[in-house]
Amino acid sequence: MNLNNNLITQQKIDGQLVYVLATEAFELLVNNPVIEGQPISAFDTVCNMMDFVRKYVSFSLAFYSIGNQKKWMFCLLFDNKEKLQRVQIENVQCKVCNWTGFIANPTILELYYGCPDRWGVLEEASKTPIVNCPNCNSTLPRHSIWASS
Ligand SMILES: [Zn+2]
Repeated sequence: MNLNNNLITQQKIDGQLVYVLATEAFELLVNNPVIEGQPISAFDTVCNMMDFVRKYVSFSLAFYSIGNQKKWMFCLLFDNKEKLQRVQIENVQCKVCNWTGFIANPTILELYYGCPDRWGVLEEASKTPIVNCPNCNSTLPRHSIWASS
């Protein structure tokens, strides 16, 4: 797959050029995990991200490059209506009611490597409104801007 494919949308997010994949592109990448001649590394992790996006429609899969490295980095974006927010999916347990599920956490520095002001972007991410436990409404142990129900 090449960057000019119409299943890829270019966007500037956090001051960085990011390529957002339409879900129709997933099958093509599974059959041939190469973008612009560059094989995708750790593709099993990327496949897990694809499964997540297929299941939860508020998320999309994106990739970008860092500096002049010949390597694609992948991340999940959560559409919070204001922006596409980079997130890490984590499995957490509520300490009050023992609910367990997935949450989306934007406060991971690694998500913002390659951004011109990654500390500033991380600071902004730490201010994004959190959601509580979907079962008992207690505060969850991690910064969660989304939780599976
Ligand atoms: Zn709970």
